[in-house]
Amino acid sequence: MTRFYKALITYLEDKFEKSTNLEVRNLIREQFQGKCEYVTTCSNCHTPSTRSSYFYEIEIHLAVLHLLNLLYFLCVSLIFLPSQGIKMLEEGIAKYIAEEELTGPNQYMCDKCNAKHDATRAIRLTALPEVSLNHLQLQNYL
Ligand SMILES: [Zn+2]
Repeated sequence: MTRFYKALITYLEDKFEKSTNLEVRNLIREQFQGKCEYVTTCSNCHTPSTRSSYFYEIEIHLAVLHLLNLLYFLCVSLIFLPSQGIKMLEEGIAKYIAEEELTGPNQYMCDKCNAKHDATRAIRLTALPEVSLNHLQLQNYL
C-alpha cells in the first residue's frame, strides 16, 4: 500500500507540475505534503542540529498483542468504541514523535564538539498536510 501510494503521489506530482494552471501545479504539495524537522541534540554540548524534510505519510506503529486484538481494533474499537481506537492511535503517534537515543555504534558526529557523542533525535511535525495518509504498522507481540 505504501509503495503504491508513493508511486501514485510521485506520478501525479510529476504530471501536475507540468501544468500551466498554478492551482493544478501545486495541488499535490498543497494537499498531501507535510513538513517536519529532525532535531538531533548532542548530549555533550546540548547543541541542537535541525534538518528539514517533507513527508507524504506518517507511519504509526500499533502494538497488537494477539491476532484477536487486531480484529478487536479493526472491527470493534473503531466502530463501537472509537475512544479506544483513538487512544491506540495517539499512543502510536506519540511513539512516532518520541525522542530516540543515539548511543553505541549509532553515536552522533557533533559538528560543534568535532567528535562522536551520545545524542537524542526527534521528529517535529512543523506543517501538517490537508490530507494525511497514516500508514498503520501493526506489530504483533505474541
Ligand atoms: Zn556536541
